[in-house]
Amino acid sequence: MDAKGRQHSVSHFLRENQDRIFANNRAWVASKVKEDSGFFEKLSSGQHPDYLYIGCADSRVPANEIMGLDAGEVFVHRNIANLVPNTDLNVMSVIEYAVVHLHVKHIVVCGHYNCGGVQAALSHTDMGILNPWLRNIRDVYRLYEKELDEIQDLAEKNKRLVELNVLEQCRNVIKTAAVQQSYQKNEYPIVHGWVFDLKDGLLKDLEIDFENVLKSIQKIYNLEAGRKGSTA
Ligand SMILES: [Zn+2]
Repeated sequence: MDAKGRQHSVSHFLRENQDRIFANNRAWVASKVKEDSGFFEKLSSGQHPDYLYIGCADSRVPANEIMGLDAGEVFVHRNIANLVPNTDLNVMSVIEYAVVHLHVKHIVVCGHYNCGGVQAALSHTDMGILNPWLRNIRDVYRLYEKELDEIQDLAEKNKRLVELNVLEQCRNVIKTAAVQQSYQKNEYPIVHGWVFDLKDGLLKDLEIDFENVLKSIQKIYNLEAGRKGSTA
């Protein structure tokens, strides 16, 4: 096949892919309406999700699907390696909005084994603009250096770092003023740490003791008192 022919077959393939998505969309709409004729009317009237899910952007971990939740039931934020850096305006805005405006009852940080982000952080490679992002994971390693250094098996080390990263990102969620103040007032949201296993599709609850983690965090990061100058 000449270059022009190749180009034609690639663009044909891409167009077919695109057509498939829109056909899927129409089939999804039809199945939803068949189940519940008022589905889209309800969907367009507003959202009241109980869950905020913060997970990895990995294509193999579709948030709604693994939780069996429908459109409207979970507020989702995804990035590489499910990180919650306090200078990231995106994730911080998501948490603020979910807690203060949507009044979510649960915040889940969900990592997954075989995470490419965690894998990259464990390798000594210059990844360009990804370096400062991955450094958040390397900082988790430093916090648990002794424990992780003792694990000889690389796959096991990777798995443990995935879990510890989830734990530390949960701590980062709990460090926010929005979460602390809402919990003091309403006794929610509760923060959970989960790991998804690509090998069997199961979610594992790391069973974070939210009350105790909150207490230990507030020794240093307590922001319950409210905004300075605020009369609220
Ligand atoms: Zn990942």
